[in-house]
Amino acid sequence: MKKYNFNPGPSILPQETVDNTIQAIENFAGTGLSLMEVSHRSKEFQAVMDETVHLFKEILNVPTEYSVIFLGGGASLEFCMVPYNLLEKKAAYLNTGTWANKAQKEAKLFGEVVEVASSKEANYTYIPKEYTIPADADYFHITTNNTIFGTEIHTDIDSPIPLVADMSSDIFSRPIDVSKYGLIYGGAQKNLGPAGVTFVIIKNDILGKVSRPIPSMLDYRIHIKEGSMFNTPPVVPIYASLQTLKWLKALGGVKEMYRRNKEKAGLLYAEIDRNPLFRGTAAVEDRSLMNVCFVMNEEYSHLESEFYKFATERGMTGIKGHRSVGGFRASIYNALPKESVAALVEVMQEFERKQ
Ligand SMILES: *Cc1c(COP(=O)(O)O)cnc(C)c1O
Repeated sequence: MKKYNFNPGPSILPQETVDNTIQAIENFAGTGLSLMEVSHRSKEFQAVMDETVHLFKEILNVPTEYSVIFLGGGASLEFCMVPYNLLEKKAAYLNTGTWANKAQKEAKLFGEVVEVASSKEANYTYIPKEYTIPADADYFHITTNNTIFGTEIHTDIDSPIPLVADMSSDIFSRPIDVSKYGLIYGGAQKNLGPAGVTFVIIKNDILGKVSRPIPSMLDYRIHIKEGSMFNTPPVVPIYASLQTLKWLKALGGVKEMYRRNKEKAGLLYAEIDRNPLFRGTAAVEDRSLMNVCFVMNEEYSHLESEFYKFATERGMTGIKGHRSVGGFRASIYNALPKESVAALVEVMQEFERKQ
């Protein structure tokens, strides 16, 4: 049976990414050795690193005064690396979900944290919009896409202080104006590659302003200086990410991804709104293009596990909602084809006709 991969992360990757990586694991760049068996300092792998950074910058239109580095540790390590490197006295955070909350919690270990706004009281179903960014804070941290709750900040907001964004689950899903950000980070495993590598885009001049000593492995300046080779980088996830970037560029880049993502999300939200069995959980204007959260309407809530079984039997994979929201979540990242969304819509309609 065909599987439709709606996993929230790690999640679907382009078939080319999987195929090309398998090939390199067998025989990397004609070396006769596996990608897993060669030095990260070999000229063949250095070429992979250089091309990955180059394509990453090209696709996102990253200005010259920014660096792009690849680290281990996941987005979760950035929750502490960001304040370690940037928080001298005070930082501001927008609390829009579980990950945003976790980021904020880590920052408290380094200084004063101002929560400018939170939607926690409404189980993070919307993005707060009325708030003031304190001009005397060292940076303002946002989570652009709330993977668990299915809300997304759709525009690049203006901030009087360096804007720091966790874009783990919506990087490369739409064009962004990088010049509006001081730092952008994310784990690869939603829209870029397999788990194990984290990307960080940094405006160089925001670094070097804190007085605390920083351990080398946690110091962005060291990783920038060493070209992500201060220690052994995650070579296989970086190689796979490069394959995704090539795929993305060939398809037309982030502009084309954005068009496709709007189309896919539009199709699914339209069905959720039309089908009397279901309703979306996120505020309509804040609905994520990447993670579509929905539940059964109250009068049908007893059918939840039955629908889950029905959908699973028809190949739908990874649609169980996160335990903090319940119901269902379909993650429809860049690599998910429109046909998969159409198949899910078809299953929802088929289930409706059965009632
Ligand atoms: C998945 C996710 C994380 C956690 O990433 P790890 O790489 O597992 O640390 C953080 N933030 C967001 C928005 C995510 O979607």
